[in-house]
Amino acid sequence: MSTLMSRHHEHLYIGGQWVRPATGRLITPVNPSTEEPLGSVPEAMEEDVDAAVAAARAAFDSPGGWASWEPARRAEVMERFAAELDARAEAIATAVSSQNGMPIAIARQLEVGYPGAVLRYYAGLARTTEFSETRDGLLGGSVEVRKVPVGVVGAIVPWNYPQVLATFKIAPAMATGCTVVLKPSPEAVLDSFLVAEAAEAAGVPAGVLNIVPGGREAGAHLVSHPGVDKVAFTGSTPAGRAIAEVCGRLLRPVTLELGGKSAGIVLDDAVLDPAEIGEELVRATLTNNGQTCFLSTRILAPRSRYAEVVDLVTALARSLPVGDALDERTLVGPLVSAQQRDRVEGYIAKGLAEGARLTTGGGRPAGLERGFFVEPTVFADVDNRSVLAQEEIFGPVLCVVPYEDVDDAVRIANDSDFGLGGTVWTADPERGAAVARRVQTGTIGVNRYLPDPAAPFGGFKASGLGRELGPEGMQAYLQTQSLYR
Ligand code: NAD
Repeated sequence: MSTLMSRHHEHLYIGGQWVRPATGRLITPVNPSTEEPLGSVPEAMEEDVDAAVAAARAAFDSPGGWASWEPARRAEVMERFAAELDARAEAIATAVSSQNGMPIAIARQLEVGYPGAVLRYYAGLARTTEFSETRDGLLGGSVEVRKVPVGVVGAIVPWNYPQVLATFKIAPAMATGCTVVLKPSPEAVLDSFLVAEAAEAAGVPAGVLNIVPGGREAGAHLVSHPGVDKVAFTGSTPAGRAIAEVCGRLLRPVTLELGGKSAGIVLDDAVLDPAEIGEELVRATLTNNGQTCFLSTRILAPRSRYAEVVDLVTALARSLPVGDALDERTLVGPLVSAQQRDRVEGYIAKGLAEGARLTTGGGRPAGLERGFFVEPTVFADVDNRSVLAQEEIFGPVLCVVPYEDVDDAVRIANDSDFGLGGTVWTADPERGAAVARRVQTGTIGVNRYLPDPAAPFGGFKASGLGRELGPEGMQAYLQTQSLYR
């Protein structure tokens, strides 16, 4: 048995217990660096999802249960949960990197630590938020306006940041008194058993968090389940549209964090020195091998300095060590699966067919015969209307698009179906902020980019509906009741 396997690997965490799955169907994630199987865990079937929803329902509905607890008491549980996750940090980082190819150095920065911080942040908000206020009524008497938890949350996450994206949902749900059924993605599932162990060790009450690893079928069953009150989804735009249609029919609240193709606008005064901006530029454009929704993968460069920008981006891409995700020196690991590698290679072929100029990469790295690796790849002279610039590739592939002046840069940045992230690179942060404010996107950074737990994160246009993080992220887990007295 692989060391990554939980001692509970034959069971599912439902209703605060490790229960036998309905069938013997298994999920066997593969290490994308080596193509070796990592061990097997049960695949949740519809019956398991039903049991998880029933447990979450009971925990939510029971008199004196989680929803009725004082928020400060829930906060204490959340802080213990954060501490138990922190105690498992190295095991979680290793499990994530082994499954999705995230370089271990990045997993240690983002997939551990950050989830605990988000849990603690929402525990703090649970303590300080006024969930009820009384107003004078216009017609006499008073009105008590109450913010009440929405109920049972069906939370569905992708494989690229399984810990962070689950916590973006679990934390505000727990803070408000909701209960959760989490469905991790089959590609990154082993780490979810460590989350369950942490919840159990922290004394999270039975049924407040239930975990059903599975594929689309389990996800679809959860979305339309009559016992679910709200859906929180992170994943691709096509899956988000399918889920939104179901939720629309059911009049079920839904938040959707979807794909992106964000612009990185390099202004003509930017300092194009790798020592100065290299690290932040790489972080903003290639983190997690390009398997990150908010990356600035369309780099917009002024004609006056076009060649310089192309040279900088090309040199940075070439400089990144590619290798096994568990190697501490690796900055670009493999793609999550053979299928994802094929998809990315398909986009590279399309880029070449469209006439874009390849400046580096485009193939599989030498010396890495096993594993789903693609070289960091840069295309120059890319037309913003081309497939390469319009579709989310989700791999280490950047395109550099020329622009004439700032108005043209803003027009090109906004000429996209998506609007999730983005960056502006400049020697003058005020000028950068002025340009950033003109970009139609949910989040944008000047000379850096990292979603901050204190600020809402989410997309404009086809990048999604609603926001996670910040106090705003709690609203989706609350509904309002007016009580006339
Ligand atoms: P995906 O949409 O294929 O799957 C995401 C999750 O949804 C998985 O757990 C999957 O099993 C489930 N699922 C798929 N179809 C479903 C359906 N019809 N009903 C219910 N559940 C369903 O996405 P993926 O390939 O796993 O992840 C990559 C995508 O996620 C990219 O498009 C990326 O941009 C996006 N993403 C967005 C954000 C964000 O915050 N906006 C963050 C990370 C990833």
